[in-house]
Amino acid sequence: MIQILAAVAALLFLAGCGAALSAPAGGHDPTFLAVIDGVEVHVDPGVDTAGLAEEVGRAIQRSLAYWSATPEAIAGVRLYVRAEGINCGHPWLSTGCTFPEKRIEIMPVPDPPCRTLLLCHELGHIILPNDGMHTDPRWADTYSVNGC
Ligand SMILES: [Zn+2]
Repeated sequence: MIQILAAVAALLFLAGCGAALSAPAGGHDPTFLAVIDGVEVHVDPGVDTAGLAEEVGRAIQRSLAYWSATPEAIAGVRLYVRAEGINCGHPWLSTGCTFPEKRIEIMPVPDPPCRTLLLCHELGHIILPNDGMHTDPRWADTYSVNGC
């Protein structure tokens, strides 16, 4: 009997994990795109998603290499590709921002290399959570995205 209960509990656990991947945030989410390398990607309506999952995957791999980080460092990140500028709490709108609870929001800026830099920068805030002032010298090459 205990073995049967354990098996049922394991099946329920697995079903729960599967449901979390396909329908995050407690139900059907029309903005959900994919889970890429442990990053749950959401896209605002109106954003062109053609090739986006592949591009985000490449940008994640480049970012991990750049920051010398493992996939575990960014596990659980939720990435939102917004249709408009992002309110990071400044008087101006930004192209990207990292919020508590490992939530990143970026804009789909037109130039793909800039998008990669943008995501690389924001993932840096996840990987170096105590360096919000960009004191690590590696920030220099990711911060230039603002000039793209
Ligand atoms: Zn920054």
